[in-house]
Amino acid sequence: MDEEKKIEEIATYISTCPVCKKTFVVKDYKYNVPYYGDVIITVAECENCGYKYRDVLVASGNEPRKVVYRVEEPGDDNALLIKNSTCRIEIPELGVSIEPGAYSQGYITTVEGLILDVIEVADHLCRQENSPREKCNEVKDLLEKARKNETPYTVIIYDNIGVCDIISSRKKPVYEKLNT
Ligand SMILES: [Zn+2]
Repeated sequence: MDEEKKIEEIATYISTCPVCKKTFVVKDYKYNVPYYGDVIITVAECENCGYKYRDVLVASGNEPRKVVYRVEEPGDDNALLIKNSTCRIEIPELGVSIEPGAYSQGYITTVEGLILDVIEVADHLCRQENSPREKCNEVKDLLEKARKNETPYTVIIYDNIGVCDIISSRKKPVYEKLNT
C-alpha cells in the first residue's frame, strides 16, 4: 500500500495553544496501522510560539489495562507503539517513567524509537550544569545497552482508556486488567 492511501486528512479545526493561548489550526488524520486498524492522529503547530502538539487515538477504546511487552532479542524492538497522551509508560529495568500531563504528547513510534527518544531526553538533562555526572553516565550506558539489544527490558503501559498498544508480528504483549 502506498503512503498516500494510508494517511487521509479527515478534519481541520481551530483550537487554543496551551502554551501561548493564541489560536492554532489542528488537523486530524486517519492512518491505517497494518494488522491493527485505523487510528486518528491529531497534529497542530503553533505559528506564534512554535509549540507542537501531537496525539493519537484509536477508533474504539478498551477497558483500563496494563500492556506489558518484553524486549529480549534483536527485532523485538521493531514493535509498533501506539501512545495516547493519557498513557503512562514505564521501563523499570532502565529507570524510565513517562508521565501523562498537560504537555504529554501522543504518537506512533517503535519501541526502538521510544528508547531513542529517552536517550535524547537523558542527553539533554545530562548537559545541564548541575547534572550528577556519575549517575548520568550510568543511565546513558544502560540506555545504550538497551538500544543495542544487549540487555533485556520490559515496556509497561498503564492505560486508563484502553487506547495505547504495542503491536508486533513477532509476539503479543501481555494484557492485564488495570484497577483504576
Ligand atoms: Zn503557541
